[in-house]
Amino acid sequence: MKTYTEIALNKSARQFSAEFVEAVRNHSPIQSVAGEYVELRKSGHQLVGLCPFHAERTPSFYVHPAKGAFFCHGCGAHGDVFDFMKRILGCGFSEAVDYLAAHAGISKGGFRTTLELRQHVARLAAHRYEERRFRESCNRRINAINAKYRALGRAATRAEHCLRTGRLSPEEEELAWASLARYRTFAARVEREELCELDTLRREWLARKGQVDQHAA
Ligand code: ZN
Repeated sequence: MKTYTEIALNKSARQFSAEFVEAVRNHSPIQSVAGEYVELRKSGHQLVGLCPFHAERTPSFYVHPAKGAFFCHGCGAHGDVFDFMKRILGCGFSEAVDYLAAHAGISKGGFRTTLELRQHVARLAAHRYEERRFRESCNRRINAINAKYRALGRAATRAEHCLRTGRLSPEEEELAWASLARYRTFAARVEREELCELDTLRREWLARKGQVDQHAA
């Protein structure tokens, strides 16, 4: 049995091609679409104004034209131009695409994809695939570090307990101290080398991919 979401996704997938959605996006710059509802002024690479989704007196609604995205620091509303219209109109994705298509003068019936658009969509899909693989690799890495943390932590707690309460032989005592040291060294290393930071993980990921690409070439 199909879930409701699957049915909804299939319906919208049938309704528009990915190329059509991208053509609508390309003709609907977020700054002009949002600019019809919000008075925006420049702030560095971004534009800022009063959020249309919550009441405020100081602007915390940011639009990033290059990324085609908006973000409100006040209420957390965020997304792309379709998400913006979904919120403004209180509608679903299909209606938001329909609305922006009509707004940009792109007719669904007369729409013909171009090679450029097909390549653009293929690049987007490849990028999304890469991002997903990167996230998966991050999760694996962080899980492994956490598992090691927990194992070393458990050993260190046991060692500390024995040092405090047990009568240990000199050899056992040495092992207990070593166990404590291993835990502290590992914790310090994770901290110092920022092993769980996204930036570190991305650098590592890119370096590894670089190696793979060199081998493939
Ligand atoms: Zn807001």
